[in-house]
Amino acid sequence: MGTKITPLGINTTVANQAQKAMGDRPTTTTNDPRYRPNETQLTLQWYGNADVRVVEAPVPAITEPTDVICKVTGTTICGSDLHLYHKEIMQLQRGDILGHEWIGIVDEVGSDIKNVKKGDRVVASFQIACGTCKYCKKGLSSMCDTTNSSSVQEKLYGKPFAGLFGYTHFAGGFAGGQAEYVRCPYGDVNLLKVPDSVPDEKALYLSDIVPTSYHSVVCAEVSEGKSVAIWGAGPIGLLAAKWSKLAGARRVIVIDNVEDRLVLAKDKIGCEVINFDGYSDVVEAIYKLEPDGVDCGIDAAAFRYTKGFLHTVQRAIGMETDSSEIVNEALRAVRKFGTISLVADYAATTNQFLIGALMEKGITLRGAGQAPVHKYWKDLMKKVEAEEFDPTIILSHRFKFDEFRELYEAFDKKELGIMKTFVETRFSRPRAAGTPALSCFKTGDVKPSTAVETAPAV
Ligand SMILES: [Zn+2]
Ligand SMILES: [Zn+2]
Repeated sequence: MGTKITPLGINTTVANQAQKAMGDRPTTTTNDPRYRPNETQLTLQWYGNADVRVVEAPVPAITEPTDVICKVTGTTICGSDLHLYHKEIMQLQRGDILGHEWIGIVDEVGSDIKNVKKGDRVVASFQIACGTCKYCKKGLSSMCDTTNSSSVQEKLYGKPFAGLFGYTHFAGGFAGGQAEYVRCPYGDVNLLKVPDSVPDEKALYLSDIVPTSYHSVVCAEVSEGKSVAIWGAGPIGLLAAKWSKLAGARRVIVIDNVEDRLVLAKDKIGCEVINFDGYSDVVEAIYKLEPDGVDCGIDAAAFRYTKGFLHTVQRAIGMETDSSEIVNEALRAVRKFGTISLVADYAATTNQFLIGALMEKGITLRGAGQAPVHKYWKDLMKKVEAEEFDPTIILSHRFKFDEFRELYEAFDKKELGIMKTFVETRFSRPRAAGTPALSCFKTGDVKPSTAVETAPAV
């Protein structure tokens, strides 16, 4: 693997052929489950660039003694699913079931399962951890050594991260949670029981965005009195802004160009905002607010949002997979000896990286990694239960499962004020009070975003 691999080549021919040639990396659980005879379910499957479909599929069966089969009562789409939608993560295969954020009810347990039983309400971590390797023992579940079969990732990174639900064969090739049933390998460690008082509409987000946003703030070393700049006002950026405020940050500046999202950052979370469309140089706008630069930077945007011609062309012709524009802005905008955490999903290589500023300003540039959910989720569930932290501040819409394809399209275009959604299945419980009413693309009845409804018009 060198730097001159086109994104197209990485996704299809090169990576899948390389995996085949190298063979699967050995794992301690299979990604090839058995199925229940005569039972079917709806799933969301990937078929190509901007082509996802709701497809009937067989229901997985207990395949390993450590498996749990769950009925999904809620799922959603994540910003990182858009990388898959656009075929920007390698090792996708037609028919892959996507989705890594889901909540459900235990339907069947394997013979080794001790911690959960049929009927329990549980949320799954987006990562599939074994619970016993040296990383898992420390709660660093996203770095589990034994569940990702991608020899391509091992070759590219040296060692791969854990297997993930519904995130390509680069992340282990496990079927995901945009489905009515999921097989959860190592169910004793990858499922967390949900307290009765916490509705699905809150608990779902313990699977990823609550711990991931929290982890990004820990990695950026945000603390009392510090100033923070956050690139990207998507769900992770906004929840990171909220965690920064709760950590006592003196000032939180959020940078994006989607006005609805900036309004939310300002009015609901109390941030200062910069619409980058209004500036030729965002960094100058940051220095106007913070003459020394910000103490902490969090990149929650993503490599795919190129602004300049140079990186747009380089990505298009395969000279780089990831743009360095945002990280370079962060390197210029943080103060000397400041800290940056990258929580956006960078994938492979970048050009024009401002390595000089990194070294000469003494900046700590921290790859946050996929967040180790197990390290945080029990504590964070308590904060949600105690209503110290409410993930529904960004919950904007609710849809039915059979409209997933339309939802991908709208979410991708950032249309209709869609921020974070709750997608219900035939197993969902009645909607919790205070959460968005059901919207419907087919009838055109898409409700206004509840996340921004209290905000004044801009
Ligand atoms: Zn996610
Ligand atoms: Zn492990």
